[in-house]
Amino acid sequence: MVVGDASVEIDVLVIGAGPGGYVAAIRAAQLGKSVLVVDKAELGGVCLNRGCIPSKALISAAHQYEVAKHGSSIGITADNVAVDFAKVQEWKNGIVKKQTGGVGMLLKGNKIQVFNGEALFINEHEARVFNDNETARYKFNYCIIATGSRPIELKTFPFGGRILSSTEALQLSEIPKSMVVIGGGYIGIELGQTFAKFGTKVTVLEGSDHILPGFEKDLSSLVARNLKKLEVEVVTEAMAQGSEQSGDSVTVTYTVKGEEKKVTADYVLVTVGRRPNTDGDLSLELAGVEIGERGLIKVNEKGQTNVPHIYAIGDIVPGPALAHKASYEAKVAAESIAGLPSVVDYKVIPAVVFSDPEIAGVGLSESEAKAKGINTVVGKFPYGANGRAQSMNATDGFVKLIADKDTGVLVGGFVVGAEASNLIAELTLGIEMGATLEDIALTIHAHPTLGEITMDAAEGALGHPIHQLGK
Ligand SMILES: Cc1cc2nc3c(=O)[nH]c(=O)nc-3n(C[C@H](O)[C@H](O)[C@H](O)COP(=O)(O)OP(=O)(O)OC[C@H]3O[C@@H](n4cnc5c(N)ncnc54)[C@H](O)[C@@H]3O)c2cc1C
Repeated sequence: MVVGDASVEIDVLVIGAGPGGYVAAIRAAQLGKSVLVVDKAELGGVCLNRGCIPSKALISAAHQYEVAKHGSSIGITADNVAVDFAKVQEWKNGIVKKQTGGVGMLLKGNKIQVFNGEALFINEHEARVFNDNETARYKFNYCIIATGSRPIELKTFPFGGRILSSTEALQLSEIPKSMVVIGGGYIGIELGQTFAKFGTKVTVLEGSDHILPGFEKDLSSLVARNLKKLEVEVVTEAMAQGSEQSGDSVTVTYTVKGEEKKVTADYVLVTVGRRPNTDGDLSLELAGVEIGERGLIKVNEKGQTNVPHIYAIGDIVPGPALAHKASYEAKVAAESIAGLPSVVDYKVIPAVVFSDPEIAGVGLSESEAKAKGINTVVGKFPYGANGRAQSMNATDGFVKLIADKDTGVLVGGFVVGAEASNLIAELTLGIEMGATLEDIALTIHAHPTLGEITMDAAEGALGHPIHQLGK
């Protein structure tokens, strides 16, 4: 064991190498800073290892299986369509490896030092980094904390055995016969629907009156309809109470409007939210960094904490816990440290659910816009009337645009349907640039593409839709 107690000096210490930390490190290095990144687990954080990337790989595999099984309506039949789940997992793990390897190469190429171990503050200018074999002490001019979040564990559903968090669910070696998903938010629905496509009998217990409560019902109802087709039982207004594991199964007790019910399955997946990693071993108190509500660190528009040379980004600061938000804040923090006048502007943060069909949204919903006193106009166009959607056999969905009626400026955009995750980019740029409905309607959209649905929705809101009657 090497013990180093003389402090090594660096410009920027980055704690955590997720989409917040590694992006901050690269941007700071590009701006001429000497940077050390410390991560106690793998490079890439939750997103690359246990979140965005592996979940999307499983979602794609399940989708391809589903398409292969149900092609007869378009003249394709395949015999003996089967899932080799070990191979699916191997493929998924290979993608994760490529992605995290890519992060390693980028850090190296930007001459960033990487320490695989834990970091804890000693005081407001020094931190100790250590692993089983090494320990060192660093004196930093600036620090960017990007320690991310972990799944919330319910007391009555302690993780272990048959009770899984998303991390273990992504690593299952076999397709379970049955699974209860507690929490119908985006992680629960993405994973629940994926396993249902692979053949698992899934029951979703959701506390509110509809799944994906972050989105309005007109969007989530298309996903609910698809879940029904997959024979997923969705129980809303359901409060999970407790669990009992016995042999290879677990029984969940829950209540619906006061009435007690039970469901037994191979596994329970608990996805009721995530907790910021600001407690425990990091010793934030020794650096004088204050923790605010719900364990989140309060920061200003540059990402500075109450200790001005210490910044915080990503899942540990307020706002949606999303990878692209973490990376955006990372660039702002690094640029601010380098003396650039960067500040965050959260006018638009897109959100995507990789469900089937996908849901994506940016800006204000119709009710949020009305609540802000905006005189709204709405344009809505269905996938079913679009040539490309028909030729993709993907006619479920719509694009909904919300604009200020007086100025035509776009204030919100929502898409439910195939490729919603990609279509939202146009609307995000539109709101960011202050585009009007006319800008969107007059933009020449290639034919035949799903993007034309957005153009048609804009024409509808302007009152002159080409591909819709009765306006
Ligand atoms: C199943 C799932 C699916 C998701 N899908 C999406 C998606 O599709 N799109 C999306 O935008 N977001 C998605 N997310 C959310 C996304 O993963 C997070 O918002 C994102 O990873 C946050 O980035 P971060 O850099 O703040 O932290 P993290 O990615 O959590 O990284 C933090 C890192 O800090 C390290 N660390 C913590 N404490 C210390 C310490 N004391 N010393 C050293 N290292 C430390 C950890 O090991 C970790 O690697 C998903 C999450 C899950 C769980």
